[in-house]
Amino acid sequence: MFKKFSYILAAVFFALFAFLVLRGSFLDAVENRTFDLRQNMLARTKTPDKNIVIVTVDEASYEYILDTYGEWPLPRDVYAKMINRLQAQGPRIIAFDLMFVKSLKSGAAADAALTKAIAGNNNVYTAMNFDNQSDELRAPAELDKKFTVNVENKSGVDFSDLTFTNCRAILQEILNSTQNVGIINVSRSDDGVLRKMPVFLSYRGDFYPQLALKVGMDYLGIEQKDFTINKNAVKIGDRTIPLDKDGSAILNWYGPAGTYDYIPMYKLLKSEAFDYDFSGKIVYFGTSAASLYDIKTVPTGKLYPGVEVQATYVNNLIEDNFIQKLPRWFTVAVSLAMAGLIWFVIMRFESAFTGSVAALVVYFAYLIAAYAAMRFGSLWVEIIYPLVFAVLAFAGSFIVKYLIKSRDFERQYKLATTDGLTELYNHRYFQEQMQQQINQSKRYGTPFSLIIIDIDNFKTFNDTYGHQAGDSVLRQVAFTLKRNIRATDIACRYGGEEMSIILPNTGEDVAYSTAEKICERVANKKFFFSGDKEANVTVSLGVSTFPQDGDNSTDVIEAADKRLYNAKKGGRNRVGQD
Ligand code: GH3
Ligand code: MG
Ligand code: MG
Repeated sequence: MFKKFSYILAAVFFALFAFLVLRGSFLDAVENRTFDLRQNMLARTKTPDKNIVIVTVDEASYEYILDTYGEWPLPRDVYAKMINRLQAQGPRIIAFDLMFVKSLKSGAAADAALTKAIAGNNNVYTAMNFDNQSDELRAPAELDKKFTVNVENKSGVDFSDLTFTNCRAILQEILNSTQNVGIINVSRSDDGVLRKMPVFLSYRGDFYPQLALKVGMDYLGIEQKDFTINKNAVKIGDRTIPLDKDGSAILNWYGPAGTYDYIPMYKLLKSEAFDYDFSGKIVYFGTSAASLYDIKTVPTGKLYPGVEVQATYVNNLIEDNFIQKLPRWFTVAVSLAMAGLIWFVIMRFESAFTGSVAALVVYFAYLIAAYAAMRFGSLWVEIIYPLVFAVLAFAGSFIVKYLIKSRDFERQYKLATTDGLTELYNHRYFQEQMQQQINQSKRYGTPFSLIIIDIDNFKTFNDTYGHQAGDSVLRQVAFTLKRNIRATDIACRYGGEEMSIILPNTGEDVAYSTAEKICERVANKKFFFSGDKEANVTVSLGVSTFPQDGDNSTDVIEAADKRLYNAKKGGRNRVGQD
């Protein structure tokens, strides 16, 4: 029964395991939340690169723009002016996380001014995005090959989520005048949180790089058009970007939001901010005003302006610290190891409390290790699957431990109450049961009987055939007793070659006939021993009954003993009378 149970337990364990591994989307969602929690804690330990500056249209700038220019978006010659003024300070890169789509009311002259500012400076980047919608803004446009990169996918990364049919094309004049156009599409998890960003996007059979990738590469002086995805990672110069199954890079966040150097755009527009030192820096233009709809939910803090996501991406490339999520096989191995270790710990410690504390310590140590792996190795070590398996192992080991204990208890109990040779109950148990029968019979007013059995001339038998033969016969007599009594009757070895049977709820008549039956069965039985020898053995019996033979154990036993003595005196092989 014990063995069967452990097999069932193991089967349940593995069924759960299979279920969780195959259909673990809920656990994955929880795991994502633990990633956010870790990022939240870690972000505070990281300072963003001070060479990245964000010029943002915040609420104040948005109001200023509406007051001054009467509308959003800004007339494009205003951007041209800002670019030109910034260039005077020698910034390393100016990147727009803004899209200059189609022509605005401000007209061709403003578009031309902006185009000129972009074309004249090869450190200025603009943005574009792909999608699968179709309206007149998103016509599938033919894009110049100069924007593409070559990607060789040797890892079987699935780019289907990053494959698009339409393009929200920007001003053709800009597309004609520069190579510096990057794609600003984002990737979101099912829960809407932005944890990762595309590296390459597929459009009409070609790959296009993410804006932040282009900006970061330019900043690091990496010129590369050919990329190979190997072992779920892509080499960018001497940097490595690990890729998720869907081709996205998991970002390592700095936080909380707003820790980059932020300059409200109105300060540039009012010429107030030009005392800020832009030289050698990456200047990212974007929006953070809620009314401009470029706010993302990210793991750290609550809401990030899209432009800070771009900044984070570039920062990760500079620091070479994109997050690498360890593969599922690793999680499975760790989960099994965790389950095994917890199992071992619980089994090892005698006390449930110590065992539980030790199991907690094991899991806690793992949590700390997982945190350290993210802190120092940018590794995402999963913690929810190992937790689930730790809990399963915890429960399972306690159940098995309890089963082992109860089995041990059973064995101890049996050892303490049975006689080793005959496997009848022992003398101590006999005495206990006698007392109990007296008590019970007194309380309920019912009778009970006792039979004492003694093997006849057993000394002679031993002398003739040897002690071993005697033992064998003793066992066979005991077996004969057990076969001829009811399940509720209690057969004991009284001592030596004497045995006794307590018959609960049994009166004199039934007890006598039982004794007669046993006497007859033993006398008629052939006893085999020492391999091929056989002999006949007889027994003498004495019967007594509560309450007529006494109201205590001693008197009842004495009465049976006296009749047994009479049986011996009367010639043996019989039930003794008064
Ligand atoms: P009686 O018919 O009067 O009972 O004669 P008896 O020889 O059976 O009586 P006695 O009390 O003189 O001897 C009991 C013998 O039972 C002595 C001993 O050798 C034998 N005996 C008691 N316990 C064991 C045992 O565990 N194994 C074996 N082989 N013999 C035992
Ligand atoms: Mg005897
Ligand atoms: Mg005897």
